[in-house]
Amino acid sequence: MGIEAVMPHDNIMTTQLNRVVNWARRSSVWPLPFATACCGIELMATACSRYDLSRFGAEVMRFTPRQADLLIVAGRVAVKTLPVLQRIYMQMTEPKWVISMGACASTGGVFDTYAVVQGVDQYIPVDVYVPGCPPRPEMLIEGIMAIQKIIDSDNIPRDPDGKRRPLEIALQPTYEPAAQPLDVSIGAT
Ligand code: SF4
Repeated sequence: MGIEAVMPHDNIMTTQLNRVVNWARRSSVWPLPFATACCGIELMATACSRYDLSRFGAEVMRFTPRQADLLIVAGRVAVKTLPVLQRIYMQMTEPKWVISMGACASTGGVFDTYAVVQGVDQYIPVDVYVPGCPPRPEMLIEGIMAIQKIIDSDNIPRDPDGKRRPLEIALQPTYEPAAQPLDVSIGAT
């Protein structure tokens, strides 16, 4: 199934170059997983068969920044690790996007200590904040879809100097936490 199934073979289509380029970019986002803690496990789950990130064309994880255009910071970042994160961001090619995945990456989470960065957005521009501890794979997929929408709409904000500005999209949790404590019945038939 594809466009060739609905159009005669000898047809000609005209479109704008930037539409084709954006379509190709958003259909082949290559993430670099900067996974430092438990959020990384959810990131791995997102690529597994149950959630199947490849449906969104974003499953090709790259471990070299020059081949990646989406940096996913998943987990807490120690102050000692920060220069590594910054260097990776600098080495990624433009246009590039950043997702801050989980409470620790966005705010330091429960690790309110001098050794943990209290929000990576203080040091690198963040486009999408994915909430949760840990965020569910669906939430991360929603974050990637938000990036894809921005790419599609060709709406990358820049300041007067032409420098890229972070999008700072904060996703809302899409699930209702169950009331606690749950009723437990032992020996019920
Ligand atoms: S946000 Fe929660 S799950 Fe993610 S790294 Fe921090 S403690 Fe782990």
